[in-house]
Parts: sequence; C-alpha cells; structure tokens
Amino acid sequence: MQTGNINVKTENIFPVIKKFLYSDHEIFLRELISNAVDATQKIKTLASLGKTDSELGDLTIDVKVNKDDKTIRVIDHGIGMSAEEVDKYINQIAFSGAEDFLSKYKGQDATNIIGHFGLGFYSSFMVAERVDILTKSHTDAKAVKWSCDGSTEFTLEEIDKSDRGTEIVLHIADDAQEFLDENKIVGLLNKYCRFLPIPIRCGTKTEWRKPEPKPEDENADKDGKKEEPKEEAVQVPRIINDTEPLWQKAPSSLTDEDYKKFYHELYPMNFEEPMFQIHLNVDYPFNLTGILYFPKVKNQLDLKKNRVQLYCNQVYITDELEGIIPEFMTLLHGVIDSPDIPLNVSRSYLQSDANVKKISTYITKKVAEKLESMFKENREDFEKKWDELKVFLQFGSLTDEKFYDKIKDFYLLKSTDGKYYTIEEYRNLVSALQTNKDDIVICLYAANTDEQHLYIQAAKEKGYDVLLMDGFLDAHAINMLEQKNEKLRFTRVDADTIDKLIEKKDDVCPAKLSDDQQKTLKEFFDKNVDEKTFSVMIENLSESDLPVMITQNEFMRRFKDMEKVSGQQGLYGDFNHYNLVVNSNHPLASRVLDETDEAKRTKLVQQMIDLALLSQNILTGEKLSEFVKRSYEIL
Ligand code: ADP
Repeated sequence: MQTGNINVKTENIFPVIKKFLYSDHEIFLRELISNAVDATQKIKTLASLGKTDSELGDLTIDVKVNKDDKTIRVIDHGIGMSAEEVDKYINQIAFSGAEDFLSKYKGQDATNIIGHFGLGFYSSFMVAERVDILTKSHTDAKAVKWSCDGSTEFTLEEIDKSDRGTEIVLHIADDAQEFLDENKIVGLLNKYCRFLPIPIRCGTKTEWRKPEPKPEDENADKDGKKEEPKEEAVQVPRIINDTEPLWQKAPSSLTDEDYKKFYHELYPMNFEEPMFQIHLNVDYPFNLTGILYFPKVKNQLDLKKNRVQLYCNQVYITDELEGIIPEFMTLLHGVIDSPDIPLNVSRSYLQSDANVKKISTYITKKVAEKLESMFKENREDFEKKWDELKVFLQFGSLTDEKFYDKIKDFYLLKSTDGKYYTIEEYRNLVSALQTNKDDIVICLYAANTDEQHLYIQAAKEKGYDVLLMDGFLDAHAINMLEQKNEKLRFTRVDADTIDKLIEKKDDVCPAKLSDDQQKTLKEFFDKNVDEKTFSVMIENLSESDLPVMITQNEFMRRFKDMEKVSGQQGLYGDFNHYNLVVNSNHPLASRVLDETDEAKRTKLVQQMIDLALLSQNILTGEKLSEFVKRSYEIL
C-alpha cells in the first residue's frame, strides 16, 4: 500500500468545504452522479471510435444506500481510472479544482452562486468522514483503491476488481446521517438527475402486474371459462431518470400530446394543461435547447408556481432563473438547457455576461415571434386564449419596453360584448363618437360588468363602446398603454357623469335651477352624507339622466388599484372617496326644493342617495337595513 500527501497550500480544506456550502450539502450527490455519467459517456465515445477493447455491457449507474454500514455507494461502469490517473485526476486536479473554487468564493454569499458548480468530487466530504474510490480502468491497468479521511493524507493500494468502472464509497459522517435514508436519496435523485442521459438505479419500487398466464388450465372453472388473473405487487428496480428528455428531440418528430405528457412529467403536482409551448433549439452563437410552456394565468396566485428549470447538459441546476431570463419569462413553465450559461459565478455577474444577455434576447424574440404567428395564423384561437395570456403580455410590456414594441400589434382589447380588437382597430372603431374636444380618443372601460351595469348601459345608449378591464394588472397596463399610444386615454365608465366622460365642444346642458336654488339643493344633500367619503356636486345634466349618481375620479381610483396590486399602502390610503353628483335638471331635484315638510324632504333625499349607492354596490350594513325599512314606509 502506498500512502501520500495531497499537495495543497491550505493545511486542511475539508472543514472549510463542510462549512462553506452548509445549506447545500445535498449537491454532493449531483456532483458524484455527474462524474459517473461523464465517465460512462467517455467509454461510449471510445467504444464508438473503436478505441477500447472493453465490452460496453450494462451501463446503468447504481446508487446504494446502506444504513447498517452507514455508506452510500455510487457505482458506474464508465471509463475507470488507473493508479496514475487517480493520482492525477483526484489528488492533483480535483483537489486544486476544489481549492480554486474555495479561494474564489470564500467570504461570498454562497446562495448567490448558481448551483454552486465546480466543487466536484470533493463535495463528497460535505457529508462523508471517509471516501473510498474503487476503480478499474478500461485498459489493462490494475484496479486500485484510494481512500482519504478528510485530512490531506490518502492511501492508494491495488485491489481485486474485475469489472470496469468506478465505485465511490461515502462513509457518512455523524452529522449527515439524514442522507442514509433511501427515500431522501431518491428525492434528491429525482431533483437533480431526472433527465440525465445514462440510466440511474436506486432501490426498488412496487409495480402491479398481471401474473404470466400458466400453460395448464388451472384456473378454469366448471364451464371451462378462465378467471381473469389478479394483479400482483412485484418489486422492480427503480430507474430514476428519463434518459431522452423531450427537449433534446427534434421538434418535427413530436406531437402536441408528447409535449403535454412531458409537461406533466415535469410538474406531476399540476393538473392544469398548458395552453401551448415553444421548443427552443439553437447552436449558434450559443447552445441552448428547451421547451417553454405557456400556462393559463388568471390571478396573482398563479404566478411563481411551477418555475422554469435550468439544466446544464441534462443536469438540473436550479429553478431560480432571475437574472438569466427576463423576469416576466419566469411566469412561463418548462426547461432550458444550456452549457453556455456560466454557472460558477454570482448572479450579479451573470446579468452582465454577454452570453446570458444574448440568451435573454433570443428567448424574448422567440416568444414574441410565436405569439405573432399564432395571432396571424389563427386569430380566432388567439382570441380564445387571450384572457389567460393577457397577464403574461402585460407583465412583459410593463417590465421590458422592447417587448411591448414586439407585441403591440397584437395586444388585444376586449369589449364588454366579448369582442376583441387590436389597439389600432379599436381606435378606428370608436374615434368617431369617442374623441373629446382636445382631440383625444377616450376608451371607456368597466372593471366589473355587474357592478357597473348602470354606467355601461348609459354609455351604450350614447353609442359608446365599453371595454372590459377586469385583470389584476389592468390598472398598470392602462397606464402603460396611455404612455405608449398618443392621444389615447382610458376612463372607467363610472369616473364621471355620462356627458363628462367624453367632453365635447358646446356640450353644455342649460340649467333649469337658479344658482341660489342649486346652492340650497347642495345643502340638503350635504346634510345627509359623510363628507369624508362623499363630495356633493350639483350638475346640469339631461332630464333623462339619473337624478343622483356616484362617480369616482379615474386617476385617484386607478392609482389606488395599482397600489393594491403592488401591495403598497401609499398616498391614497385605505379609504375610498366618491363624488355624489346630483342632477339639478331632473324633476326630482325640483321636488326636493319644493318640499316644505322637512321630515319628508329628508326622507326623499336619503332615498335618492341610497339608490345611487345601491347601484354602485356600496350600500351595506346598517345603511342598507335603513334603506329597506324606509322603502317599505314609502310604499
Ligand atoms: P470535474 O468533474 O469538474 O472535472 P471532479 O473533482 O469531480 O472535477 O473530478 C476530477 C476528475 O476525476 C474528473 O475530471 C475525472 O477525470 C475524474 N473522475 C471523477 N470521478 C470519476 C469516475 N466516476 N470515473 C472516472 N473518472 C472520474
């Protein structure tokens, strides 16, 4: 047996390794399996080139957990190593690799380094107190065993091992005993190794199978009919991975069903179907494959679920892709696989990396192109998907101006009648009737067709069209659309009285009441409302308009809506403020003035106010009970 000293500057780097990635000890498994896969790929390559005499045989990688002797073994049938190679690759290269890694990242926030790549073989010391390597090269070199207990000393001896490949034996340390649970290891394998290209086997699983039919007619009853054989539970080896994940296949060979099936493989806990997907495939100027799925996004809760997963040559790295793809793309689901994303660097560095920028731009372009072709090729279908697609496009446009420019020609507006228009189509549709005196086209919208029914009706009676804006990002999107589209404004139908929603030239209605009468009228109403919540305004509207209306200033309301979405408690506070508009030209206004019995007048005013509140759905509680009681009295 040979003993030796690993030549490193640091006296003992293992305690550092152990502490360094404390939260991420589990990646040791990914690193060891990656090495096993690499070694297996290498022997396959040599065999295909005719450069080895070794028979390939079964290349399945085994992971064995043994609670009794407290070991985890990773066994491959790859290229193996000779004594010289162990010395070179493990004692020198792997060690200096680990040392490099540490000197580079010491003192940095470890969570900030994507996937903590680069620690390699030595990450096994994060969980093991001793590591043995038993390896036999594909050449006729003798098999050897290398052993190291975490100090800088190692032993190397020849052993009897006839089958080609490497067995890594981890003697699990006392503080890492949790890894001796096979379920935990299977969980980790499922996380990191689900799509590796070489089959990985760990433990067994139960499968229900029908027994093989027996040749003699044992089960036949009197009538000679066979009984249906019952399924039996059998233990079969558990293979962890799908070695040919869909994203590596040619898109032309795949059907929509294949994509859906793979989606459920990726997210077994998600029962929703994706709407459609984009298969990414580039090899120049960078390498990237992947599938991005468009989920149906309706509300805020749908965000940040089923994140996009990043792989590097089929090894799972992370699902925290902030900084690698544009923020709004993280709303999508699916996988991206690229060896060209530098993984051993911090996120702040990533954002300035030229390749990462190119990848980001490429993905954005592909997504916009896909949407455009869907719109052009089958508008009807695009419209059907719009409601669940809208949030994604809004989020994209709000966070990336360039994205808005790419999608502006097929950003759709939905009317309360359920029709969809592009922005230009809509401008043309409404400009004749809905252009105001300042030459601005006013798009009217409702956020809730039930609650704002009365206002929608009033607008339609005037020949106006009303859009539906009921999405949780709509308030923000409206702001953005106004900035991007000249002479286009959005006003909610209940923002003002119908005549003032779109102010036209010489649009003034003559007043039936004198200034003094209007003042008195205002006083009567002022007495019956809470001034903190309502401002009473007397307006000369048409006789056929409602006698009292509740409106809410567009901008105040919109900013409050925007605050709500971003979860801020801001400027406009928690309370609502409304305008109570009294139509002085309505016959009821005159009746209020003419009424001499004060009690009767108060009742009349209260009734008018309550009806207006009721139509805005803001008459509740005690006030609502009072209203019902008063109404019966009047009847
Ligand atoms: P990396 O894999 O990043 O090169 P590692 O420290 O994980 O760094 O491994 C160092 C070297 O040891 C590898 O490049 C490889 O040559 C060799 N090696 C590690 N594991 C195996 C294995 N299972 N079979 C054959 N060679 C291996």
